[in-house]
Order: sequence, then structure tokens, then C-alpha cells
Amino acid sequence: MGCLNSEGNFEHWFGNIHLSGPCNRGCYFCIGQHMQGLDSLNNLDSWPLKNIDEFARECQDHKVNEINVTGSNTDPLLYRHTEELRGHLSAAVGELVMGLRTNGVLILKRPDLWSLYDKASISVTSLDPDIYKDTMGNGKPPDLAAIRHLDPDKPVKINAVLCPETVDNRDLMRTIGQAAQAGFNKVNVREPYGQPHIGDPFAKWGIEPSGERLGMPTYEIEGADVTYWDVHYVEVESINLYASGVVSLTYPITAGYDPQNGEVLDQSHFNKSGRVHEQWVNIEG
Ligand code: SF4
Repeated sequence: MGCLNSEGNFEHWFGNIHLSGPCNRGCYFCIGQHMQGLDSLNNLDSWPLKNIDEFARECQDHKVNEINVTGSNTDPLLYRHTEELRGHLSAAVGELVMGLRTNGVLILKRPDLWSLYDKASISVTSLDPDIYKDTMGNGKPPDLAAIRHLDPDKPVKINAVLCPETVDNRDLMRTIGQAAQAGFNKVNVREPYGQPHIGDPFAKWGIEPSGERLGMPTYEIEGADVTYWDVHYVEVESINLYASGVVSLTYPITAGYDPQNGEVLDQSHFNKSGRVHEQWVNIEG
């Protein structure tokens, strides 16, 4: 969630904690493969997180009380100290809104962790089992209806990660429709880092936008409120804590974690496992 065109003057601020470690999926577009300095780190069993207090101070200074827990190369539901993290952040920033950015794999197995978050987004490429496995490496799509049933009132968005496998055949439209049917009527359609730019598929398909959100076009599709997000242009700012202990206000996050060496390489530098370090490849969770 960085912003490549940021000049430091957008108003929507939030915090991100980027955990590192093995993942229970192996997406070929994983942003973690472009953040090689973090790929070998594992802080899923660490408490306190390195430099959590410096991060909390930056959040206080910028009057940020919305903090998302995400993974640079892992899923945050694999983190073993979520309760301590929530307590610590609440004490530091007051009216904490703690958000989760997850692939959704563990929600039904860990409802105790799911309940610790005030809001969430669930990222998938597709709800079609074959396309899902082909693009996210292993496993099957999350059962969205069962997840909705678990906590019907929690604000949850579906992130549909854009890739040719779901756009060329319009599978994306089916994903949006199925998400809405399961009770998730807010969908973000996202360009991933380091992949060929797909562009706004709805504009290409001749669908008229219904409005704009933070500089991005919105659409009413299949009963869902859909936003096309291009992380290169979205108008937001964030405070970031990485597993290395770096606290950064620098964009994009692929450079923010390591201002000297952070860079986005194209996919030809990686295989289709989505991860660089062999020890994390094909880990089930
Ligand atoms: S993009 Fe895929 S492999 Fe990478 S952290 Fe997310 S779920 Fe795991």
C-alpha cells in the first residue's frame, strides 16, 4: 500500500505493520519477492516487534489511530502475538481501529484472531478453484459465505488482485458477483507491484464509473461497490513498520523498507513460486 506519486501532501493517513515469515500461499505476484531484504526474516513469533514503540510514536505524532496489520511476504493470521499487539497499540494511540489484510485462509480456523480486528480485507485473485491455485500457488479459495456468517457486521472488503488470468476471460466479473452474493459488497480491484500494468478493466470494457474515491474510479458492478486501485497513483500516505525494524514514511513501500537497495524488479527475475528464499517455498498453514 505505497504510493509511487506521493509528494507527501495527501491527507488520508494510516499505519501499516508489515510482518515477515513463511506464507500459506505462494502467489507469483507476491510483493515480498521484490523486497529481498525482508524475505529471509521471520517475526511471526516475536513480541515485542522490533521498533514497535518508535512506530507507535510516529502514529501519535501524525494523529493516526487506524493501523493495518499486513505481511510483506506472509499472512498476518499466522502471527502468534496479535492479542499483545492490539493491547500495546490501543494503549499508545487511544481509539484504535486495527485492520487486517489477509488472504483469508485461516479465518475460519482462527475466529479468535479474526475477532481481534475491527475491519479487514481479504485478498484473492479469483474464486474459481483452478484459477486460484494457478495464481496463488496452492489451496482453495476462502469460503466467503461462511466467513460472513462468522461476524456479519465486521466491515470487510474483498481485494481482487488483477492478473491476466482473471481479466482476459472476465473471470473478475464472476468473482465480484460471487463476493456480493456472499454478503461482501465492497470490492477493491488492485494492480499488483512488479507485474505488467493491466489498467482499469472496467474502463476497457466500456463500463461507466459511478464516482471517485481517493483519486481512483468507482463502479457499481453485480451489486457491489467496486473501486479500481492503482497503488502507483492512489492518494494516501502511510507510516510503515517492517520486520527489519525500519520505520518509514517513504514511498513506495518496496523502497521504503530499504531506501538504498529497495527496487521493484520485473517477473523475469523470479520463478512462479512467488518467493525468493527456498526455505519458505511450499509451506502449508
Ligand atoms: S501475496 Fe500471496 S504469497 Fe505473498 S504474502 Fe500474500 S498470500 Fe502470501
